[in-house]
Parts: sequence; structure tokens; C-alpha cells
Amino acid sequence: MRYGVFSDVHGNYEALKAVLDFYRKNGIEDFICCGDIVGYGPQPLECSEALLGLGRLTAVLGNHDAAAVGKMEQKWFNPAASWAIDFAREKLTGRALDFISRLPDRAEGDGFTVVHGSPRKPLTEYLLNEAQFSANMAGFTASPCFIGHSHMPLYFREKDGGTPAADFMRPMDRVKLPAGPVMLNPGSVGQPRDGDPRASCGIYDADRRLFDHFKVFYDVGATQKKMAELKMPYMLAERLSFGF
Ligand code: ZN
Repeated sequence: MRYGVFSDVHGNYEALKAVLDFYRKNGIEDFICCGDIVGYGPQPLECSEALLGLGRLTAVLGNHDAAAVGKMEQKWFNPAASWAIDFAREKLTGRALDFISRLPDRAEGDGFTVVHGSPRKPLTEYLLNEAQFSANMAGFTASPCFIGHSHMPLYFREKDGGTPAADFMRPMDRVKLPAGPVMLNPGSVGQPRDGDPRASCGIYDADRRLFDHFKVFYDVGATQKKMAELKMPYMLAERLSFGF
């Protein structure tokens, strides 16, 4: 089984369309989403509806999703993020609102775990280093554990001898997953922070235990134009040009 693994779509429908198109061309029909479908971007409703249409999807709640549906206090967000959460709350209706509201903090599929931040703090921890990986290892048994939240493509595993290791994944990197605990962050579809403005995503081949990291071109300018028309905070649009 091969899965399209992605995270942090953040209401960027142009980026999501490009990623889903990339998956379609690669014959992917099963999907894993590590949360933050809304927030920051101009099209939270369209993104939620697109994910609803995927059918075979395992998805979890992100912190921005949680705030948009009233499951998390908004005071933890900076003013620009908070503006976009208010906007998402206004836009989400019907089945899309129901979908976001029902997302779990944590999900387990056939041989994998999904959380937004980390197993011990699913909505809030930014998992960035080896020490955090070690501290979270006991929190999941179905491995790999897919995560999001930091918007950075990262790979955590134990080296021979049990030393924890963290590696940044570059575009087209392929990692062969060892048998022990592994955590993988596919990076962000809608607001990459790895210095590369292209949308981040991955493909997980469960049978061969391989994870491939990809960056996909999309029309950044089209998203920025929509954000300008909606008078969204300027810095949210500007950062998309740099992937930062
Ligand atoms: Zn996010």
C-alpha cells in the first residue's frame, strides 16, 4: 500500500490542488493528513471540502483547526494567525465544519500513527530534535508516526546501537525506514518553512518501508492575490514567496 502523506495545508487551495494532482499522477489513492487544514490561508472551506472528497483519508486535528472550531483557546496565537482563524471560522459551514469538528487528536491506521504535534502533546509540541523524539517514543507503538506542526520535513529514528537521530529531508530524498520507532514530518503543503516555496509532501510505501519526500510547484502568486483581495495580514502572503 502507498500513501500520500501531507500536512499543514493551511487554507492554501492552490498548493493543495497541485499536491493532489501530483498524487493522482503517481497513482496514489490512500492519504494521511497530519492536521492544520485551515488557518493562515485564504480558502479553508475549499481545502476542507477537497479532503472530504478524498475518501480513503486518515486525518487528525491541528491546533489551527482546533481553534477554528472552538476546541482551543485563541490567545495562544499571534495576531496574524488569530485573524486567519477568525476568518476560517466564518467560512467553515455544513459538511466541512462537521468534518473539521470531528477530527481526532490522534489516529492509528494499518501500521502507522498520526498526530499533529507529538504523541505526548498532540496539538502543541514542535518536535524538532533527538531529545524530543526519545521522549515521545513510548507514546506510539504503530510506527512510523507521522507528524506535522513545525512545517519542516524531518525524519527521526534510532541508529544502530539505539542512538536517536534527526535529519532534515531535502526534495527527492528517499529514506528506508528501520524496524524500530520512526517519526516523519512531510513538511507543509500550504506554508512551507524550509526555505523552498514549493509545496511539501511525501509518499509512504508501507510494503517496502520507504518514504519519499517531494516539493511540488504551485501558483504562489494566485494564492497571494486571493489573500490581498481578502485583506489578509500582509506577512502571511509575503512569507509564501520565500517558503519561510
Ligand atoms: Zn501548521
